[in-house]
Amino acid sequence: TTLGGAAALAFAAARRPTPAAFAGIAWLGLTAEFALHRILPGPKTPEELAKMAVTSVLIPPAALGHRLAGEVRVRRPRPAARAILFDRDDTLIHDEPYNNDPELVRPVPGAEDVLRRLRAAGVPVGVVSNQSGVARGLITPAELAAVNARVEELLGPFGTWQVCVHADGDGCCCRKPKPGLVTRAALALGVRPEDCVLIGDIGADIEAARAAGARGVLVPTPRTRAAEIEAARRDALVAGDLAEAVGLAMGDRAW
Ligand SMILES: [Mg+2]
Ligand SMILES: [Zn+2]
Repeated sequence: TTLGGAAALAFAAARRPTPAAFAGIAWLGLTAEFALHRILPGPKTPEELAKMAVTSVLIPPAALGHRLAGEVRVRRPRPAARAILFDRDDTLIHDEPYNNDPELVRPVPGAEDVLRRLRAAGVPVGVVSNQSGVARGLITPAELAAVNARVEELLGPFGTWQVCVHADGDGCCCRKPKPGLVTRAALALGVRPEDCVLIGDIGADIEAARAAGARGVLVPTPRTRAAEIEAARRDALVAGDLAEAVGLAMGDRAW
């Protein structure tokens, strides 16, 4: 529809009335069809008809503009991350709520592989994890350390572990979606937060990244809320698995 309208205007400007007329008729027909679809369900009051006529002319170019802007946005080259931070539960390992047993640590598929490749490429990696089970007395600090040690046993060493052991009401500055874990991890790895990408499975991960000035990549699980996926699609990036997420973090170039 928009192409027809634009062609009609362009041909008219070039003083070529015949193609301008054809393009104009195409535009008018498609616009009329669109308007009809929107008018038929009613209410067919004069105000409604006028509103539908005007908006039916405006919506196609606005929609096309949004689409093109989105296409440009997702294609623009992104700088490769200089460090990658990972959420722990349901990102690197399957979530066992308030896990205090190292034997229950199970890496998600592909985690070991992407971490091996990142280390081989010299990209620093870190973990940023909320563990409010400690504040709630469900996990002892020693158990948390044992579980994290098991993670490293299975997935290799991380350049930094930043763990928030506080609960929601504690008012700390590190519990995601607060930025503290991300800024501390960046400091520990010797990079700026802006050069970090945080990969996580829920909205709080993406919000923490944003709050710290880092970028976020969401790898949803069946437990990730639809609204969080929508928000990440709009403001960050969404990947199907860890390997794709790391690829996006590295700007899709060979690493
Ligand atoms: Mg998680
Ligand atoms: Zn905290």
